[in-house]
Amino acid sequence: MFVSKNLAVNEKDHLTIGGIDTVELASKYGTPLYVMDEDLIREHCRSFKQSMDRYYGGEGLVCYASKAFCCKAMCKIMMDEGIGLDVVSEGELYTAASVGFPMDKVCFHGNNKTDEELSLAIEHKVGRIIVDNIFELERLNKIALKAGVKANIMYRIKPGIDAHTHDFVRTGQIDSKFGFALETGEAFEAVKKAISLDNINFIGVHCHIGSQIFDIDPFVHAAEVMIGFIEKIKNELNYEIKELNLGGGFGIKYTEEDTPVAYDKYMEKVSEKVKALCGEKNLKLPFILIEPGRSIAAPAGITLYTVGGIKNIPNIRTYVSIDGGMCDNPRYALYKSKYDVVVANKASAPKDNVVTVAGKCCESGDLIGEGMPIQQVEAGDTLAVLATGAYNYSMSSNYNRIPKPAVVMVKDGGSRVVVKRETLDDIIRNDLE
Ligand SMILES: *Cc1c(COP(=O)(O)O)cnc(C)c1O
Repeated sequence: MFVSKNLAVNEKDHLTIGGIDTVELASKYGTPLYVMDEDLIREHCRSFKQSMDRYYGGEGLVCYASKAFCCKAMCKIMMDEGIGLDVVSEGELYTAASVGFPMDKVCFHGNNKTDEELSLAIEHKVGRIIVDNIFELERLNKIALKAGVKANIMYRIKPGIDAHTHDFVRTGQIDSKFGFALETGEAFEAVKKAISLDNINFIGVHCHIGSQIFDIDPFVHAAEVMIGFIEKIKNELNYEIKELNLGGGFGIKYTEEDTPVAYDKYMEKVSEKVKALCGEKNLKLPFILIEPGRSIAAPAGITLYTVGGIKNIPNIRTYVSIDGGMCDNPRYALYKSKYDVVVANKASAPKDNVVTVAGKCCESGDLIGEGMPIQQVEAGDTLAVLATGAYNYSMSSNYNRIPKPAVVMVKDGGSRVVVKRETLDDIIRNDLE
C-alpha cells in the first residue's frame, strides 16, 4: 500500500513508521519533523553487506555515501554495521571523526577539495582519497610529503556511460565536472603521473555514473569499461590496480511509478561481469567498493508536516500549504522529484483528491509536488511525505530564516531525537551587530 515497507496503518487509521504512530510523533516532537527508521537503515546495510559477501567472497567494502543523510547517529549506525563511509567535505569528515569512525574505512570525495580538507584527510589517515584532477593530485603530493606519509588514492574516472536518469544527477558522461575522462587519454596520462609521485600510493580507480538509476545495464557497462582500463594500466604500465570502486546510484521507489530492481540483482550481474572479465584478461580480482547513499537512507525516512491554509483556485488547482517546504526538502524545486503524500491522521481513506502541496517559503517554486493524489485534507491534518530519508535533511537550508526541523529516529517501538530542532537563537547565533 505504501512505497516503503516500514509504513502501515494502525487501528486509529493513523500512518505508522516502524510500528510507531506518526500522528503521536508529530504531537510529541512538533512539525515539521524528519523521522528515520533505524531498523530499516540497518536492514539495508546488512543486505548490501550480504551481497558483497555472496558475490565477492567478502573481498569488498560497502561505503555509505553520507551526503544522503549525515549526522552523528547515522555515522554510529554505519560504524556498528561494519559499513564504510563516503565523505565529501570537512564537515562530513568532522562528523565521522566526532564519533570515532574508523578512518581506514572512509573515502574522501569531491571535485574541488581545499588544502585544508586534504590536510585534514591526511591528518586523520583517511583510508582512500578519491582524487578528481591533477591540480588536486599535485597539492596532495605536497601535503603528504610535508606530513612524511604516502597518501592512498583512487582516481575518479568518467567511464563515458550515459545512465538514464535526470540530467542533474548524471555524472558518468564526458561533459561532467567530476573526474578524469577516459576517451581523451586524460585518465591514462594522469595514472602515469600518480604512480611517478613519491608521496602518492595509487591503489585504484573509481566511477559513479549517477543517481536514482533503475537499469542494471549501465552499471554492468561501467564495470566493463573500468576493467578495460585496469587491463590497459597493467599491460602498458606494468602496474597492478588493487581496488575498484563502482560507486552508488541505485534507484529507490518514491512513487508507484518507480520499479527498482532488488539491489542484490545489481550486485549479482555486475559481479558476474567483473569476475568473467578478470578471468579472461588474467587480472587479479580487485577489492571491490560500492557506495550506496539514497538506497540505504531514503526509504527509511518520512517528513511530517502540519497542514495550514488550503487555497482552491476553481478550474486551476488546489494549493495545500504546509509548515515546511523547500527549506527542508528542496528536491522538487531542484529536480521536479516526485513523492507520495499521505494524510497521516486518515491514512487509509481513499486518495480521491488531487492537489499541489506548497511550502511556506517566499518562492513560487517552493512546492513539494504537483498533481499529488491525496485524501480529503483540511487545516490541522498531519501530512506525511514519504521516502524523504535521503537528500532532504542533508540538503536543508535556513532560507527565510526558518529553523531546521528535528530528526527523530525510531527503533524497536521507541523514538529518540538524533538532531535537535533549531531554535530562533540558532538562527541569529553567528550574527554580529
Ligand atoms: C552521491 C554519490 C554516491 C551515492 O549516490 P546514491 O545515488 O545516493 O546512491 C556515491 N558515490 C559518489 C562518489 C557520490 O557522489
